[in-house]
Amino acid sequence: MTLDAGIIGAGPAGIAAAVQFARHGVRTVVFEKGSTGGLLRTAWRVENFPGFPGGISGPDLAGLLEEQLRASQAELVREEVESLDRDEELLIVRTGGRAVRFRAVIVASGTRPRDVTDPEIPPDARDRVFREVDELRGVRGAHVAVIGGGDAAFDYAMSLSEENDVTVLVRGNSTRCLPALATMARSRERVTVKVLTRITAVAREPGGRLRLTSLSNGGDGGGARGGLHADYLVLAVGRDPDDGFVSEELLRDAPALEARRELLFAGDVANGIFRQASIAAGQGTHAAMRVATMLKETAGVAP
Ligand SMILES: Cc1cc2nc3c(=O)[nH]c(=O)nc-3n(C[C@H](O)[C@H](O)[C@H](O)COP(=O)(O)OP(=O)(O)OC[C@H]3O[C@@H](n4cnc5c(N)ncnc54)[C@H](O)[C@@H]3O)c2cc1C
Repeated sequence: MTLDAGIIGAGPAGIAAAVQFARHGVRTVVFEKGSTGGLLRTAWRVENFPGFPGGISGPDLAGLLEEQLRASQAELVREEVESLDRDEELLIVRTGGRAVRFRAVIVASGTRPRDVTDPEIPPDARDRVFREVDELRGVRGAHVAVIGGGDAAFDYAMSLSEENDVTVLVRGNSTRCLPALATMARSRERVTVKVLTRITAVAREPGGRLRLTSLSNGGDGGGARGGLHADYLVLAVGRDPDDGFVSEELLRDAPALEARRELLFAGDVANGIFRQASIAAGQGTHAAMRVATMLKETAGVAP
């Protein structure tokens, strides 16, 4: 069976696209490998999404988006898309269990945490090292170290310090996050921020805790060795587009497919450093309107 439109990812971009498709009467399937609401599930507080003058917690906003997705009547398939390819004139989405053909697909798959090799994480420590903070939801009374100096690291520090002690380890001599976020984190009793601190080694000690060896320096590369213990380590060192499932042929032909409104990218997957929920939602709506217009123009024309 050929369906009108597929959406890969149920974050703000994918959900906004599904809601817009419903308004145009386009039959839609949304594929989601994790939680609906996407990365917003990990955000401590969202203060810049229009419509919430006092701000809203990330999980609460994700919950509202999930509700709106349900109301859109789009079919939600909770499976990971393993490949996106082309079969003559149709796009094929393949998961472990099915292959579905679409006239058009919106890729709204966001980003994945960047892999780091420095510091190297030994295999016996991996169950205490995380790249997404929601995996630590429910942890209480622990000491959590966070490596990173950007918005995500400080946002994670805010969520985690509600129930834990948190040390944020920043390699450079200043933070790269929003000034207000850094100020809030620094004013929290349970948050310690150490700048000019590079973690050079991670080891698991017999009791299970992690020992982090650090090189603290004056920015000249030299400096004193030190260290700290932590129950858990969170790596917040950047994110990359999560588009590894798109075939090379489609990536090569993407500009032409985009011009024909058959393959569109929306949200963080395509936004470089401009990764914000309202931008993603706007792009999802825009992409769905473009596809719906194309489907209307070509109605009755065999693909
Ligand atoms: C800690 C933190 C705090 C933030 N705070 C704010 C804030 O205050 N304000 C703000 O505007 N933005 C904030 N953001 C950014 C915001 O969360 C993102 O910009 C937004 O979620 C991007 O939406 P998206 O739909 O493009 O991608 P995502 O939200 O990343 O959603 C993509 C979805 O696609 C799914 N997916 C990926 N690959 C596949 C696949 N192969 N098969 C099936 N599903 C797949 C993922 O599981 C995910 O659910 C924050 C982000 C973080 C990490």
